[in-house]
Amino acid sequence: MQNSHLMGNYGDRALTLVGGQGSRVWDDQGKEYLDAVTGLAVCGLGHSHPDVADAVAEQSKSLTHCSNLFNIPWQQELGDRLSRLSGLDKAFFCNSGTEANEAAIKLCRLYGHSKGIEIPEILVCEGAFHGRSLGALSATWGSKARNGFAPLLEGFTHIAYGDIQAVEASASENTVAVMLEPIQGEAGIVIPPAGYLKQLRDLCNRKGWLLVLDEIQTGNGRTGSYFACDHEGVKPDVLATAKGLGNGLPIGACLATEKVAALLVPGTHGSTFGGNPLVSRAACAVIDTIENQNLCERASQLGSWLLDAFKQELAEVDHVIDIRGAGLMLAIELEASCGELVAAAADAGLIINVTGGNRVRLLPALTMSDEEAQLLVDTLCPLIKNWQAS
Ligand SMILES: *Cc1c(COP(=O)(O)O)cnc(C)c1O
Repeated sequence: MQNSHLMGNYGDRALTLVGGQGSRVWDDQGKEYLDAVTGLAVCGLGHSHPDVADAVAEQSKSLTHCSNLFNIPWQQELGDRLSRLSGLDKAFFCNSGTEANEAAIKLCRLYGHSKGIEIPEILVCEGAFHGRSLGALSATWGSKARNGFAPLLEGFTHIAYGDIQAVEASASENTVAVMLEPIQGEAGIVIPPAGYLKQLRDLCNRKGWLLVLDEIQTGNGRTGSYFACDHEGVKPDVLATAKGLGNGLPIGACLATEKVAALLVPGTHGSTFGGNPLVSRAACAVIDTIENQNLCERASQLGSWLLDAFKQELAEVDHVIDIRGAGLMLAIELEASCGELVAAAADAGLIINVTGGNRVRLLPALTMSDEEAQLLVDTLCPLIKNWQAS
């Protein structure tokens, strides 16, 4: 396809998808695919979910947008639901994960200043992905995303992920917060040792630091609980989420405790589109569906089944280094770069993703059927077995 008027930041895009239903998508040639990525963990309910479609259709006929100059009852509703689910008191709505993190970073700076710290320092992690705006990019790790964009923001120190000893060793009197993903997504589903989040929570309590969790990818049922921090019973001070929240409508949320949220007084932050009636109503429909259909439990159960199936099928394959996952965030790590598997899978009628060079990443819909899960295993495993490092 000729993308002559589009910037080149996405490179060549091989497929043109024109339709989707549940875990199936179709391209412009009429070929059907099983989608194990769902728009990068966005369409957790599957494509074209009827509850979301109805919410969008109805709301678009009454009021799509009015700006945050006005009360938005659906935004209030969504705030109530997310507060109940997170245990946090207040929500700010924006249009993407990056913006949710941007709000979180600004809260950390306000918090630092409120304590008399002029140059607040946030501890962030090696391997982290927090987005590509200059603030979020400064918190992100890795030359591929960062190179060429200097000067980035000061006030971020990267520490080893999953290593509780590294945290205190890298802190200073200017440290105000620790910001991290409960499971690193873009890095290739990196799961920290059990107890790490709880230890971080305790450390933050002791030091008076904010614990900021980026649940943009892990949230909204993906890992088998509504938020990944629920697995360890940890409540952060600030939580950012997006991706699965709108099932394809652009919405992000930054949630915070009453005390931290109180730092954002009128005029200090905002968004024109953020939390408009259309996206807020869609997100309410998403949450209602996740709850009514027990999709967190489904993600947990289906994820365990898939993990076991992959481990069994690929047990004897030498070039498979590791198979891991939490709920429906799964990775199969190979011994060398395997980007070519994406095209091979597409040929076989399967959408997968490769991240970190050598990690096959799977983010299937929480609504995927048992038969589709079996088809995923039956299609992917032979491709991985037959793969050879080039
Ligand atoms: C995708 C992602 C982001 C960025 O979200 P956008 O909606 O692309 O801005 C930030 N953090 C994590 C953990 C992500 O997975």
